[in-house]
Amino acid sequence: MSPTARTTNQPLGGDEMPRFGGIATMMRLPMAASPEGLDAAFIGVPLDAGTSHRPGARFGPRQIRAESALIRPYNLATGAAPFDALQVADLGDVAVNTYSIEKSLALITAFHGRVLGAGCVPLTLGGDHTIALPILRAVAARHGPVALVHVDAHADINDRMFGERFTHGTPFRRAVEEGLLRCDRVWQIGLRGSGYTADDLDWPRRQGFRVVPAHALWHRPLAPLMDELRAAIGDAPCYLSFDIDGIDPAFAGGTGTPEVGGLTVPQALEIVRGCAGLKLVGADLVEVSPPYDTSGNTALLGANLLYEMLCVLPGVVRR
Ligand code: MN
Ligand code: MN
Repeated sequence: MSPTARTTNQPLGGDEMPRFGGIATMMRLPMAASPEGLDAAFIGVPLDAGTSHRPGARFGPRQIRAESALIRPYNLATGAAPFDALQVADLGDVAVNTYSIEKSLALITAFHGRVLGAGCVPLTLGGDHTIALPILRAVAARHGPVALVHVDAHADINDRMFGERFTHGTPFRRAVEEGLLRCDRVWQIGLRGSGYTADDLDWPRRQGFRVVPAHALWHRPLAPLMDELRAAIGDAPCYLSFDIDGIDPAFAGGTGTPEVGGLTVPQALEIVRGCAGLKLVGADLVEVSPPYDTSGNTALLGANLLYEMLCVLPGVVRR
């Protein structure tokens, strides 16, 4: 290979260091101190001060990295070869202020702003869903209002929780108010559970969101839904925000606000793989709570979904 040929980071292989050894970066990638020169990066945001019920998502990034140690570079289902074309690294964690949500929001926006400013796509490991708002602020500052694919048991469009405006149940209400979203291209998938009022899902619909409740998806393949979603979102810059509680607690019970009757793991894979072709400008995987994840399966699933997100970024080649 000539000295000018581009070489890209590769995950550390299982024959170079046992998979249970070494420092637990995401997918055993090199850690980078700066986003300069990166096409995509994994970023941890260990914040759970916005949770309303079970805490623990602050430990999510560390546990997701640990469970990501088994993931190999090539996607045998889709043919995606993300490390052949993209330069990817782990940028470590945002040093959030665990005593102040508002200060943490500013720190998260500033960090993601630097990443996006370097032309690098952020793939963020939560943390609770509060973190989607400061990330969307940074994304919209660079790309303008974005389309959104939001997978969740909950719409997260409350106005206040316990009187507070910045919580894990309010990020998309704030995002609408702040003009960060193209509301006619927002899709919320997997919503379910009990509500405070019978019309809890009317507010997002009034904004123009497409709301797809979980029960409408039971026993169904999701490829047709994703065909429809891609046609509706088109070439608009798009953000993907995936709350692990969108998946049924049978598969992902290690989370703060579990709701029964959720998506299956194959459906979750169909959703992320169905984002191939969208102009994704960032993505997150939030609400993994290791203290409630006694088997590690929730973090394992979160790690794999983040890998699948990497596999559908623009520019990824398929073999
Ligand atoms: Mn959520
Ligand atoms: Mn949720």
